[in-house]
Amino acid sequence: MALVINCSEDYNLATAKITAWLKRRGHTVKKIPNKGAIAHNPKESANGYDAVFLSALYTWDLPTLVEEALRALPCSKVEIGGPAASIMPDYVFEQTGIKPVIGLDNRFDSEPGRYLSTYTSRGCIRNCEFCSVPAIEGELRELAGFVPASYVLDANILACSREHIESVCEKFSCLSMVDFLHGLDARLVKSWQVELLSKKLKIPVWRFTFDSLRHEAQLKHTIDLLREYGIKPQEKIIIYCLCGFDDTPADANERARLIMSLGAHPYAMRFQPLDALVKDQYFSPGWNAKTMREFWDFCNIPTLAWLYQQIRPKR
Ligand code: SF4
Repeated sequence: MALVINCSEDYNLATAKITAWLKRRGHTVKKIPNKGAIAHNPKESANGYDAVFLSALYTWDLPTLVEEALRALPCSKVEIGGPAASIMPDYVFEQTGIKPVIGLDNRFDSEPGRYLSTYTSRGCIRNCEFCSVPAIEGELRELAGFVPASYVLDANILACSREHIESVCEKFSCLSMVDFLHGLDARLVKSWQVELLSKKLKIPVWRFTFDSLRHEAQLKHTIDLLREYGIKPQEKIIIYCLCGFDDTPADANERARLIMSLGAHPYAMRFQPLDALVKDQYFSPGWNAKTMREFWDFCNIPTLAWLYQQIRPKR
């Protein structure tokens, strides 16, 4: 019997795939679906499993992962993987004595099944300092045989070939909605991409990123392009606004106001150091708890209210 634990709050595609992989091999599997559910798992229930698989999405979930690993270790074979362990393998090894799987695990990554989210490509053409994708996924590569799902987690799908994007549109056109959750790179948007995506897919919200004022012209160009295809920013566009990395509150506010002036909805994405073991502790020069809170409230309270209206199930 195997135990699969997702040590993060958000949906973890890896643990869903591990569960499917184990079941296909005839194992009985118990799954703890998220961090919140760990508290409801009786302490003694970690005993009696042949194998325990642990995965965390974020580095600040690693202390929970370590705790669970130490609980399971006396009785079970323990395996550790996932994005957070890939970023901090030394920490995991020091705390548990287990060498985690770094990067993608080929045993599970292409496991077929019905999942809430999917990847059609891995990696990215860029190497942004604040982002964990280059370390975890490496260079951009298109995946063959990807499985359609409503939430697409590709780091930079617009950097893929036309052939690949056409294939994604064809395969995903049957879905009631497609959400490119990690955002689209506004610097890469081309007319044929907007035409294809908007014709073939039901996209409730278009998500882009605006991490630096240097990209202002490209963002404006992208929004103009979307308007040409009838996609109104006030109805359909959310823009992630990185804050607290190498900017100041004034710089972040300027980007947010620019987004609003274009009619779109800003969403503050607070920078977290890649090795943060506690979330929301770091402040780059110029930021503090008050300015961060004010910026978050300024962007996210109205945007989340709008987003909820956009994506809530229609009655
Ligand atoms: S932030 Fe976006 S563009 Fe930059 S490396 Fe990460 S995924 Fe690629």
